[in-house]
Amino acid sequence: MSMNNQGRPTRQSVKDAANGAQPTSTGNRALMLEEALIFEISDSTRTGVDLLDAPKVASRLGGLERKAAIGLPGLSEQETVRHYTRLSRQNYAIDLGLFPLGSCTMKHNPRLNEKMARLPGFADIHPLQPIHTVQGALAVIDELGEWLIKLTGMAGVAMSPKAGAHGELCGILAIRSALEARGDKRSVILVPESAHGTNPATAAFVGYQVEDIPANPDGRINLEALIARLGPDVAGVMITNPNTCGLFERDLKTISDAVHEAGGFVYCDGANFNAVVGKVRPGDLGVDAMHINLHKTFSTPHGGGGPGSGPVVFSEALAPFAPLPFVERMDDGHLALIEEESAQDHHASSFGRMVAFHGQMGMFTRALSYILSHGADGLQQVAEDAVLNANYVLRSLEDVLDAPFGDAGPCMHEALFSDAGFAEGFSTIDLAKGLIDEGFHPMTVYFPLVVHGAMLVEPTETESKAALDQFIGALRSVALRAKAGDESLHRAPHFAPRRRLDETLAARKPVLVWTEPAAEQAEAAE
Ligand SMILES: *Cc1c(COP(=O)(O)O)cnc(C)c1O
Repeated sequence: MSMNNQGRPTRQSVKDAANGAQPTSTGNRALMLEEALIFEISDSTRTGVDLLDAPKVASRLGGLERKAAIGLPGLSEQETVRHYTRLSRQNYAIDLGLFPLGSCTMKHNPRLNEKMARLPGFADIHPLQPIHTVQGALAVIDELGEWLIKLTGMAGVAMSPKAGAHGELCGILAIRSALEARGDKRSVILVPESAHGTNPATAAFVGYQVEDIPANPDGRINLEALIARLGPDVAGVMITNPNTCGLFERDLKTISDAVHEAGGFVYCDGANFNAVVGKVRPGDLGVDAMHINLHKTFSTPHGGGGPGSGPVVFSEALAPFAPLPFVERMDDGHLALIEEESAQDHHASSFGRMVAFHGQMGMFTRALSYILSHGADGLQQVAEDAVLNANYVLRSLEDVLDAPFGDAGPCMHEALFSDAGFAEGFSTIDLAKGLIDEGFHPMTVYFPLVVHGAMLVEPTETESKAALDQFIGALRSVALRAKAGDESLHRAPHFAPRRRLDETLAARKPVLVWTEPAAEQAEAAE
């Protein structure tokens, strides 16, 4: 048995498995069961519940009612439970292991937060309940908003956006409203090359032309190029700080001053706030609007366990344009929900409403309980430990993986590698697939675009040294195989329920509707 560099026995190598193992007759592997699609294992005459026939009532649908069977799959209760349980075991989750996805900040979701969010006073209320019966929930929104304002050094907050990308939309709409309010027609938003895809998409969605700002060889924004491009047509810039190369944009204050001087606004993509929370206040750097992904920095679940949430903080210049609704503490101490635009009020210039109700209440409760359980000093340590963990990963791997900005000093909360030095014909995809065989979800791959074959690893502060060492050992072994040109890596994953898929075909020609194989054959014969 061979040992990895932490002195642990390595798993059975791909070669051993290929030599000895026979495919099983069922397709099952050990206790991991092969599971067909629900349509293939069900039939529409079976059901898990017995229902009485519906009473005959006169239809009020004017002949538009469904006549044929609805065609839903039918399974008994036990078959249904097994189907979904088997599928869920094929999934990877933060509760199973380290999730190194760079930019995504996949941190542990503390169970205390879950307990708080499930308190009936928060979980069982309805957005249309009378306001005096939900003062506690409004207090949660208000207190969380206050923390976000304090942590970012900004003047106002919009709590309703439902994800980071939705927050970007909120921020850019506020910028557009502010420009319109002063009768200023500007048509361009500048976005650095290393930006997350949602940034240019948001600016384009709001109707702006998007122009790239080049990066310096050190991975940061080219300050001269940006300043040279500013002018009366530039509405603003969208800058991620720390950026997606895992580097702090040291010139942000200079950039903000120049953008403001030229009459524009500064949007900061705050998805990486985890690296600087408690350390740096974006408001001090001249930022006008920034979204905060509660599901990243403040540990609320990404999908699965709940939706995301992307509150946006605003500078004094943009706060008057923030969307409705918002919570306001009245003179008598009770909390009001301001839902209507009103020409007389201080929110007369609000750009309107983005969501039906108030935002993601369950996420607000989780995020506030995360913040309160850490306290101000604890949040500072979050940033410190996130950065420490990323640098540990960077320095532990730079002898086997190329770190394009490794010489520029420490990274922030994520470590960036490239595929330079892999054997001819091997790329990042091979390493990512090999990592699946080692039991880890791959890191973010081919992003940011400024680095060839990029691999962006963000361990977050919630991983222990032991967990990091195990991950580093796995990544090391796969990296060495990619450098040595181990052909079996081209066919990885070998041990996953599904092997290597044609991801391009799946993205370009998604098959979203199941058709019965018989019908498919008949179609083909026609
Ligand atoms: C995650 C992320 C976003 C988008 O946030 P969502 O909550 O997924 O919509 C935008 N920018 C960066 C840099 C991100 O990491």
